[in-house]
Amino acid sequence: MEYKLCGKSGLRLPVLSLGLWHNFGEVDDFDNCRQMLCSAFDKGITHFDLANNYGPPPGSAETTFGKILKNDLLHHRDEMIVSSKAGHLMWNGPYGDGSSRKSLFASIDQSLKRTGLDYFDIFYSHRYDGETPIEETMMALVDIVRQGKALYVGLSKYPTEKAREAYTILKENKVPCLIFQDRYNMLVRNVEREILQLTEEQGSGFIAFSPLAQGLLTNKYLHGIPEDSRAAKENGFLKKDQVNDSVITKARLLNELAQQRGQTLAEMALAWVLYNRHVTSVIIGTSSVKQLNDNIGTLNNKDFSIQEIRQIETILNQ
Ligand code: NDP
Repeated sequence: MEYKLCGKSGLRLPVLSLGLWHNFGEVDDFDNCRQMLCSAFDKGITHFDLANNYGPPPGSAETTFGKILKNDLLHHRDEMIVSSKAGHLMWNGPYGDGSSRKSLFASIDQSLKRTGLDYFDIFYSHRYDGETPIEETMMALVDIVRQGKALYVGLSKYPTEKAREAYTILKENKVPCLIFQDRYNMLVRNVEREILQLTEEQGSGFIAFSPLAQGLLTNKYLHGIPEDSRAAKENGFLKKDQVNDSVITKARLLNELAQQRGQTLAEMALAWVLYNRHVTSVIIGTSSVKQLNDNIGTLNNKDFSIQEIRQIETILNQ
């Protein structure tokens, strides 16, 4: 594994992190979860990304993580970075959603209980909710750190202007934002417009989620929608209509280029995100150890020639 300093902090993150959004819920096979998590750690993936609502049902990914931690990994706690988040719908009623101080404090306590951890390494505001004053959310994050419930804080999916305000408040209170988390892959590149630049100005790291566009940037859907895929599952966030001709045509052409480079499309798609110097780490999701190993193979060839970068742009722009 390779590790990279996160922004201007002293914390190194593995360039590949593992996310538990899908495939770690109560509905998933526990032994497979255990194998994926332990294999990832054995390969040097020290960073695990959670949120209160990951499952299904919501909360169950943290419970699964907690069980595996207790049985297999607890003595490695100091070698791990565990992240969680609050801000999306978690429980019914006025306090189970959004980014109020009340919601964040209730949520982190629940998440600590489910995982069995004493503290999170990184705790995120999962989203700007459109109504809670930024000051309230940021001061909740500051106090979460001061109370020892988290070591660092992060922001996820904030619109640029709100992110700028948030960075300022956190800095003024001496709890600087460690990391910004947003979607970034070959098909969704919004962060290239402003966010990546902002993270650099502010000295924070950037971590990309859904770097494989939930599986679209792999060889999984090149010949239809397999039964065991996220797009086929009822509780998956990838919808069948997202697996459309335009995307699959691009994926086929990218797949040919990946083959010429001697790697899989998944490997090339991850390498492409990591090629951007602003990116500290990518959070992969996997449904098997085989996928995990394929994705780790990215590290064997992360470089691109100028010509390859141009070829990729041509494919993506068609
Ligand atoms: P990816 O884009 O990496 O998609 C993961 C899916 O792609 C897998 O479940 C699998 O699909 C498929 N896949 C992965 N590797 C391979 C491979 N080698 N070959 C073929 N198919 C493969 O990431 P996610 O969308 O899962 O997001 C990753 C993490 O990012 C989440 O777990 C979460 O931690 C974080 N996240 C954060 C968000 C936020 O709001 N802050 C939002 C979304 C994600 P299949 O299951 O079909 O096999």
